[in-house]
Amino acid sequence: MVKTPIASLSLEQLTTWLSARGEPAFRARQVRRHVFAGDAGSFSEMTDVPKTLRAALDEAFDFFAVTLVADTRAHDGETHKGLFQLSDGARVEAVLMPYHRMGDSGEWTVERNAVCISTQVGCAMACAFCATGEMGLTRNLTTAEIVDQVRHWQHVLAAREERVSHVVFMGMGEPLHNYVATVAAVRTLIDPEAFGISARRVTVSTAGVVPKIDALADEGIPLNLAVSLHAPNDDVRRSIMPIDRKWDLDAVLEASRRYVRKTKRRLTFEYVLLAGVNDAPEHARELLLRLKADGSVPLSLFHVNLIPVNRGPGGFARPSDERMERFAAILRAGGLAASVRISRGQDIAAGCGQLKVEVERFARAARV
Ligand code: SAH
Repeated sequence: MVKTPIASLSLEQLTTWLSARGEPAFRARQVRRHVFAGDAGSFSEMTDVPKTLRAALDEAFDFFAVTLVADTRAHDGETHKGLFQLSDGARVEAVLMPYHRMGDSGEWTVERNAVCISTQVGCAMACAFCATGEMGLTRNLTTAEIVDQVRHWQHVLAAREERVSHVVFMGMGEPLHNYVATVAAVRTLIDPEAFGISARRVTVSTAGVVPKIDALADEGIPLNLAVSLHAPNDDVRRSIMPIDRKWDLDAVLEASRRYVRKTKRRLTFEYVLLAGVNDAPEHARELLLRLKADGSVPLSLFHVNLIPVNRGPGGFARPSDERMERFAAILRAGGLAASVRISRGQDIAAGCGQLKVEVERFARAARV
């Protein structure tokens, strides 16, 4: 039987449920602390909660809305790709990316624990280079299914007294196509009584769903917005991103400017470098001109993240390091901050745009 996931209850809803059982007022916060701190992996591990109540909670609710079915570790020894099963058997992936730094006395300390999460099973965007895009869209995730990918990794990290510090909505799916659940998940992440992660450490990435970029600006959440441009003109963009037919580059850039003006937050443009497609010096110059075109937002409020394409569909190749550096240098010379980002976990297909559940293997298993 499918039960209600515990993470889908607000503090008020949990309080109501508990007080109907005659529980004291402090109980809801106590239970929620366990739910989001990650110290417990099940209701039975909430040892300061009375045993009968733990059993009642277990009967009424699912502790996790997602169940880990495979955990693949990258050669770097740190990046983990988790494959999670949902209550209807659908599967999504979420990646843990710890970053360490050498401390003053030579010891390694954890600088951050970033988690990359999915918002949909598959994706409708069909970007030519993206493994998830190849799958098509199966369904949206619920808020609890999104939040519980973070809770899973939080539980893993809690065992070594660490916490999730950053969350990026760059897994499977288009977050702004699942707007309501995505925003609710963000609010849970930043809620001091839930995860309490600073909104400045939460990044939502979109292929450019224009009306929802505007809606997000109105939410008043100081998160980071990343907009996937990947091209300096509509000819190139349309050839790799079908969404450009619905909202073209001008529409996406205008929405991005409105977002920056309204939120006063810096905005990141993502640009996947595809050899021979969008990586020429002319493309860099054209991108610079497009971003400069409207003086209403200074270039200093934009940042361009150049991502060499990871192995995926379409047979695209990554440009040489020199070519990528040349591209970045042109942007920088024009006054635009640009960085080249090599994504983590590529050897386990956990890099940007590489998340794709092994649908066939699962289908085979389901037939037995
Ligand atoms: N739907 C959202 C999130 C997608 S994943 C979006 O489009 O922004 C996050 C980023 O990875 C996006 O910029 C996406 O275009 C990029 N990406 C997809 N496939 C990739 C690949 N094979 N190599 C590198 N980046 C890729």
